[in-house]
Amino acid sequence: MSAQPNIKDLSLDDLEAHLVEGRESPYRAKQIWQWLFRKGAVNFTEMTNLSARLRARLAGDFSISRLAVLRQAVSTDGTKKFLFGLSDGQTIEAVLIPEAQRLTLCISTQAGCGFGCAFCATALLGLKRNLRASEMLDQVLEASRSLPPDQRITHVVLMGMGEPLANYAETVKALAVMTDTSWGLGISPRRITLSTVGLVPQIQRLMEETKVNLAISLHAPNDALRSELMPVNRKYSLQQLMECCRSLPVPRRKRITFEYVLLRGINDAVEDAKALCWLVHDIRCKINVIPFNPHPDSRYRRPDDSAIERFQQVLQAHGLQVNVRRARGDDIQAACGQLQGEEVSHHQRKAPALAAAH
Ligand code: SAH
Repeated sequence: MSAQPNIKDLSLDDLEAHLVEGRESPYRAKQIWQWLFRKGAVNFTEMTNLSARLRARLAGDFSISRLAVLRQAVSTDGTKKFLFGLSDGQTIEAVLIPEAQRLTLCISTQAGCGFGCAFCATALLGLKRNLRASEMLDQVLEASRSLPPDQRITHVVLMGMGEPLANYAETVKALAVMTDTSWGLGISPRRITLSTVGLVPQIQRLMEETKVNLAISLHAPNDALRSELMPVNRKYSLQQLMECCRSLPVPRRKRITFEYVLLRGINDAVEDAKALCWLVHDIRCKINVIPFNPHPDSRYRRPDDSAIERFQQVLQAHGLQVNVRRARGDDIQAACGQLQGEEVSHHQRKAPALAAAH
């Protein structure tokens, strides 16, 4: 670990104050931010519009973080998975997903996760720790560095390891830098989607404080089943969650996304589809059906194609907008919910504990 503080952990205000203290102009802070986040600078000598004296001083006072790329795997479908090492030895993953007109990066917001969803591979790790905003931004910067010069990341989804809203302050800090167009990464909030297990108070705050798209992991149409699959449901029931969704200030042209992992024989019956329609009937939404991606330690199974189609048809017949998510990066364990799967040997794993969700 570097002795000097990471400059990306300062706020812009902090950096301005630091500069003023050293008798420099505060506007240098934005120039430095541009170097770090727009140009992906990895050292201070690159920052050629700053005086040599200031560059030397910054290099004495601060370090510039980088994630260690421990492994990269590329799938036959073009999906690329990164295993990143953090400065304290924790590891996280991010996945780059090329589609027709987009290049989406799926990033992690925590190392491990404490929410214990029954079907999820990350849950088996338990929560290791929250990521800092800089560690979320570094995933974007590091993934960008792996691209040819004519390619750039167009979309970001906070759907990797961890629960972003359980790490609220750092996540929102990272989003501010990601979306800023003058000194940040310049990714429009319309192209960013945050996925949550459904932490009601934080959802409300997020929608007031940012303009990013919201995805909520639903996975079951009633409390009994949802509590079994997602222990967080015991804290925020479906009724509270749906109430929250109805009251959110979602702009007219936007919809909330509900994610629904389809598990064979568990939540994939026609009755479940009908109950789901009823549950969301008065919410402007779309449904993302994610056929379960199996991982070695799971007792759940993916429904066969006819069951997936049947489920989709019921929703469509009720007028819902439905998207069945194709598994991407299956062959490199990069598919949704498989992250970290093969990195952890069995004896390292511990039973998931439900984090205090407040
Ligand atoms: N904590 C957040 C974001 C991380 S997971 C959340 O739960 O929403 C992103 C999505 O992948 C969630 O909907 C999650 O339930 C789903 N998921 C997890 N494991 C999966 C698996 N094995 N197959 C398919 N989807 C999975």
